[in-house]
Order: sequence, then structure tokens, then C-alpha cells
Amino acid sequence: MQVITDPAALGPYFGGVFVPTMGALHAGHARLVECARDLPARREAPIVVSVFVNPTQFNDPADLARYPRTLEADVEVCRRAGAEVVFAPGISAVYPQGSTSPPRDLPAVATEPQLEDAHRPGHFAGVCQVVRRLFELVRPRAAVFGEKDWQQLQVIRAMSEQEDLGVEIVPVPTVREHDGLAMSSRNIFLSPDARSRAAAISGALCEAGAARTVPAAQARMREILLAAGLVVEYAVVREPRTLMPLPADATHGRALIAAQVRSGAGMVRLIDNAEWRVSPES
Ligand code: AMP
Repeated sequence: MQVITDPAALGPYFGGVFVPTMGALHAGHARLVECARDLPARREAPIVVSVFVNPTQFNDPADLARYPRTLEADVEVCRRAGAEVVFAPGISAVYPQGSTSPPRDLPAVATEPQLEDAHRPGHFAGVCQVVRRLFELVRPRAAVFGEKDWQQLQVIRAMSEQEDLGVEIVPVPTVREHDGLAMSSRNIFLSPDARSRAAAISGALCEAGAARTVPAAQARMREILLAAGLVVEYAVVREPRTLMPLPADATHGRALIAAQVRSGAGMVRLIDNAEWRVSPES
């Protein structure tokens, strides 16, 4: 497996399957690489994993400063999962000085739902900028993204369609810890107490399945999160693609949660989501 920092060395790997990450890789990221490896459309194309902590998508400088950086271990995860290349560029390779790409309109799902877009202003502008730029450098035929970041997945799908980027976007289901907590690079910031309270997030998503209306599902999720002492940013059921509100009597949607958990002296922000469907009455 190759570790590449200079984009000029990527030429032999054009047309591959791309897995963009910010490093601090865990079993969720490894699953993305394994899914890339097993894609029927892959036909022996190389798998390229990027490790790049993109400053333009952080709305909080403290969050950027403390984001874990573990390149050596990341390379090992990629090697074991079956990647051909780890692309770990420096900031100047991704954003050369003086290069200004023209501003583009973000898709509606990046600005209208009032979910991550409202709670992390500027985040999706940074995500779209880096994904567009990495696609330009890596020139993949397909790119794999986790459902863990559901709104991000919809934003990237919409951007690829809107800008006709010619890259197939492949979603991969969320990988979880044994108690249901979604794996995340930020979980290392959880104290043992915060870690056990954080399990309420996936618990709330599960429990929401028992509710028969959208408002009841939302209320139930909020109740569970508050009972665990979490600070709720949102706990909603939305239309899965547009992420806009649903009528109260909708029977299917995506349940999405963002909550903060106190850990030691600070707060750790976690997000998760799951399919929501009213089960037929027995
Ligand atoms: P990140 O390094 O956090 O930017 O994530 C890189 C990719 O890994 C994104 O497509 C995420 O959605 C995906 N990802 C992160 N955590 C998980 C998880 N627990 N299960 C599946 N995919 C994940």
C-alpha cells in the first residue's frame, strides 16, 4: 500500500473508489473501505483513502485544534481493510495559495433544514469545498460516505447531481459499539460517565420506532435524551432526502439527533440518525 502526500503522484490511481476521511480512523471507517472493496462496480479499480483534517469545515477553532491526528495508526487501519493508497496531503496541496475557486450555490439540503446547517454555520460550505477539491485531485469513479453523517451524505449527493461531478455516491450504514453508540472519532473525548450517558442517543432513536406519529416520536426522543442529562440541539423526524419537516401523520422518515454530553469540564457534541417507520398495527 502506498502513502502519498503529493497530488502529482495520484495519476496511476485515477478512476478508483474514494473514501474521504479526516483520520483518527475506527471500525466505521474500516467498514467504508471494506464496502469500497466489495463494490460490484469496482472492477479492480484502486481504493484511495484520504486523511485530511479540513480546516474550512470547522466552525469552532477549539474543535479543530483538538481534533485527533493519528496518521501512523490510520495507515495501518487502511492497509488491513484493503486500501491501495492513503492520500494524506498537506494544507497547501489541497488549497494552493492564490487559488480561489468561484463560490457556488449550496444545495437546498445544505441550508434549509435548520439541522447541522443551523447548528454549525459554514460547515457544509467547507464540506462541499473540500469534497469538490478532493474529487478534482483523486478523480474517482465512485466515493463512499457513511450514513452516520446523514445530512452530509444528502448534501454530497445533491451537490454531485447539481454540479454533475460524475462520481457515484455510495452510502454505508453506521457502525456501532456493542451498546448502540455510533462510532465516532470524537468518542475518545467521552469520560466513562459521559460514555454511558451517550448511549441514550441510539436508545432514543430505537424507542422512537414505537411512536405512531411524527410529533410523538420527536417528543419521546427528547424525553429520553433529557432524562440522560444530555443537551438536545435537535431530535426530529424528517423527510429522508430533503430533510425538511414531515406532516404529523407521516408513516416513514429519518430520525435525526444532535446532542451534547458533559464530559469532565467540557461538552462533546454527538450526532446520530436512523430510519423511522410506523409499524403496522397488530
Ligand atoms: P470523518 O473522518 O468523521 O469525516 O468521517 C469520514 C467518513 O466516515 C464519513 O463518510 C463518515 O460518515 C464516515 N463514518 C464516520 N463514522 C462512521 C460510522 N460509525 N459508521 C459508518 N461510517 C462512519
